[in-house]
Amino acid sequence: MWEMIQRSLQRGVLAGREATPVPAGITPAPRAESGEIEVMGDALRVEVQRLFRGSLKLRHLDAGSCNGCESELQALLNPFYDLQRFGIDIVASPRHADGLLVTGPVTRHLEEAVLRTDAATPRPRLVIAVGDCACDGGFCRDSFAVHKGASALLDVAVRVPGCPPRPAEILRALLMAIGHESVRVAAGVSAPGMPTP
Ligand code: SF4
Repeated sequence: MWEMIQRSLQRGVLAGREATPVPAGITPAPRAESGEIEVMGDALRVEVQRLFRGSLKLRHLDAGSCNGCESELQALLNPFYDLQRFGIDIVASPRHADGLLVTGPVTRHLEEAVLRTDAATPRPRLVIAVGDCACDGGFCRDSFAVHKGASALLDVAVRVPGCPPRPAEILRALLMAIGHESVRVAAGVSAPGMPTP
């Protein structure tokens, strides 16, 4: 397999056809090496490498979201943000996760699902509320059908406000989360009650 890929890369031939050259006069947009995303990402990569041997796994938990926050979380995985290059990934099972990314106001209908997902996540775990709804119930906080955000049921460590928050804001929150005491305990860097190094 590697030989096939190597051959294609050396010849510039993919799927049996010549790669399309960039038209004359068009310069590919440069990647913002010193942009906000790169700066935060570099800091994240260093911390994830130090605390989690380069691999931090999070499970997304939809607790009644409108899917706006999901779109922004999804954007973090696209080739522009490429969250995985910083050592962070979204996993399919809470049993494989170091923490939860909660979206939505936590509807009463999903209460049991939220509690069971949380119970399945190994301790200590990190809970991050993404979006206004998960932070405090958002625009529907006064509805009888919802709790007022994830903290009604879970021990939320980090809140990311916004409706929805931009991917850069979610990245910044992840950077804050890495410094949270519960993450350091999970990584074996400090014990409960110890000052944060
Ligand atoms: S915070 Fe906004 S975008 Fe996110 S789930 Fe609530 S209404 Fe949708």
